Amino acid sequence: MKIIFRGVVQGVGFRPLIYRIAKELGLHGYVLNKGGEVEVVIDGDEKKFIEEVKKRLPDVARIDEIIVQPYDASYDDFKIIESKDGHREFAIPVDTAICDSCLKEIFDKNNRRYLYPFTNCTICGARFSLIKDLPYDRENTSMDEFKMCNECLNEYKDAMNRRYHAQTISCPKCGPYYTLYGRDGDAIAIKNEAIKKFAEYMDNGYFGVIKSWGGMHLVCSVDKINEFRKWYGREQKPFAIMVRDIKTAEKYAYISEEERKILLSKARPIVLLHKRNDALENASPGLPNIGIYLPYSALHHILFHYMKKDALLMTSANLPGQPMVIENERAFDLNADYYLLHNRKIVNRIDDSVLKIWRGRKFFIRKSRGFIPSFLPSPHNKKVIAVGAEENSSAAISINGKIYSTQYIGDTKNYDTMLYLENAIKFFLKLFKMDSIDAIVVDLHPLYNSRKVGVKLAEEYDVELMEVQHHWAHAVSLLLDNGEKEAIVLTLDGLGYGSDGMLWGGEILHASFENFERIGHLKYIPLIGGDAATKDIRRIVFSIFDQFGEEIFFYGSEASLMRRLAKESPLTSSMGRVLDALSCYLGICTKSTYDGEAAMKLEKYLEEGKEEYEMEAKVGNGIVDTVDLFRQLHENGVENKANAAYSFVKALIDALSNIAIDYATRRGIESIGITGGVSYSLPLVSMLEENVKKAGLHFLVHNRIPNGDNGIAVGQNVIGGINA
Ligand SMILES: [Zn+2]
Ligand SMILES: [Zn+2]
Repeated sequence: MKIIFRGVVQGVGFRPLIYRIAKELGLHGYVLNKGGEVEVVIDGDEKKFIEEVKKRLPDVARIDEIIVQPYDASYDDFKIIESKDGHREFAIPVDTAICDSCLKEIFDKNNRRYLYPFTNCTICGARFSLIKDLPYDRENTSMDEFKMCNECLNEYKDAMNRRYHAQTISCPKCGPYYTLYGRDGDAIAIKNEAIKKFAEYMDNGYFGVIKSWGGMHLVCSVDKINEFRKWYGREQKPFAIMVRDIKTAEKYAYISEEERKILLSKARPIVLLHKRNDALENASPGLPNIGIYLPYSALHHILFHYMKKDALLMTSANLPGQPMVIENERAFDLNADYYLLHNRKIVNRIDDSVLKIWRGRKFFIRKSRGFIPSFLPSPHNKKVIAVGAEENSSAAISINGKIYSTQYIGDTKNYDTMLYLENAIKFFLKLFKMDSIDAIVVDLHPLYNSRKVGVKLAEEYDVELMEVQHHWAHAVSLLLDNGEKEAIVLTLDGLGYGSDGMLWGGEILHASFENFERIGHLKYIPLIGGDAATKDIRRIVFSIFDQFGEEIFFYGSEASLMRRLAKESPLTSSMGRVLDALSCYLGICTKSTYDGEAAMKLEKYLEEGKEEYEMEAKVGNGIVDTVDLFRQLHENGVENKANAAYSFVKALIDALSNIAIDYATRRGIESIGITGGVSYSLPLVSMLEENVKKAGLHFLVHNRIPNGDNGIAVGQNVIGGINA
């Protein structure tokens, strides 16, 4: 019999497992990695064999498909054969946190890998970040520069060893190592001495850079966060905190059972947890949540072993707007005090993943390390490249009925980040050996840099460019995430280019893969000075209040100037901007120093608030009058910010859900969902859920595809493939 295993079956200890089971069952034949799948030939009962494989599958492995074919051959032994090319796209292993067995070894004084920061085995360690090509063999990774010593080679060849065919096997004798550098780039110490010294510097309050698996992190002790903010020039932006262990995490945040599970999972994402106290308030000023994650590489564990403190600020190291630094030479541009760098190349940059949990569902803010590459089954069979939007971007590439998301790319307004997008796409095309493409999808926005990448690829592959409206793509991502084909979707976000040339963002769409209809939206308001209003939110509040004859924030000649500017300004129906305006009017946040800040800072107030004010949004022709809602708020007067915020948002969500529910009921549509960056606001999602459930309809939220623009490319891809 020939058995083909598809799924995550390479670089996860799958072949050694097959080997052991075959030996135990006395079977003859072979196992080999063929492209991205594993091919097994055995000369006996395949049922028992497959059953055993499934039973003993390592945590990190996943079987998606098993194909059994009759195969006539006789062998007198069972062998692991060298890898061959074949179907390539099925499995690219993800970076996987150190396993318990390896962890035990690095803290065992008698083990030859005692405190060795690159310790890994067949089921754990860096993967995607160091893969240059498939099949997943050592020569196709950045470990190819390190020649195995005899001891490692013996482990590698021993079928009963945990490191049998572990492609990235190494030890202190033969593997990569860390070097500690000072500001001027001079080496201070190497190997364990380097880590130990760096740990001391962190305890003593210095700012450092650590090279990890998929990029560099800026780090400092949590009691230096305020100083770090001044130095790094990020006044308010939330920073992630890596803590020693789960117990430490509990000191700072409330952790539900689901959150604990995902924190401890092999992906080890940053999880946004509810703050327990003010201890780390300055890690995410004004936000109810704090981003916490646990050590995932051997280095992190060793660092905490040497450190006295139990938590470190640890954030992606990049110059403003640029992708995370991955090259040693460029690290020194970061201007930190100390640098803990290793001598293994990072092949694929991959940022830490960030998510929050809502009723057991994962809301990915950033889906990257530990999760990418991964795919979703596609409703089409075309080869499509979708390049995403602009900020928080990623691309999505489909082949053989599967849609793969690239890693998180970032803000492609920046030239280097745009190049990163292009390179990330090309890497996937290389892995999949795709030499023809059926369609290339870009956002409708005429000025996005991602469009340039799309245009270039379209020329290279000689295919036409397809434009897809931003919010439709969001809605389709939500449909695919939920296995639905049609729904009414509240698509609420910052800004996206609308079919009418306006800036949309507070939309109710009747969406399917084939088309969409805009059945409602928030009233257009002028965004005075365009981008300037996104930063200086007072401009938005001014333009709203001006419509009911109230002057606010700008007076006299300044007000006249604003009015003049308003006439030439773009119009927007963005929910994000309305929440910004609310946050600003209530005095919660008047200036936005990072994307979504004002709206995010509302969340705490929405959590605490009650429906106290009688407010009802006027609706006509599916248009929700946000201006009048502000008038009501202003006339009521604000005694309690939280209650005012809650009442306002509740009235807004009620109006939007009424339109959606009414339409769905009339048309016999069973599902209503929410997507877009605003849907990270959990109180707001809960308000909508209540209304939808009350109406007896099915409520859709995200779980696998990011709610925000990091998830838009998947929707673009589906639309591209269906309509190409
Ligand atoms: Zn391991
Ligand atoms: Zn070795």
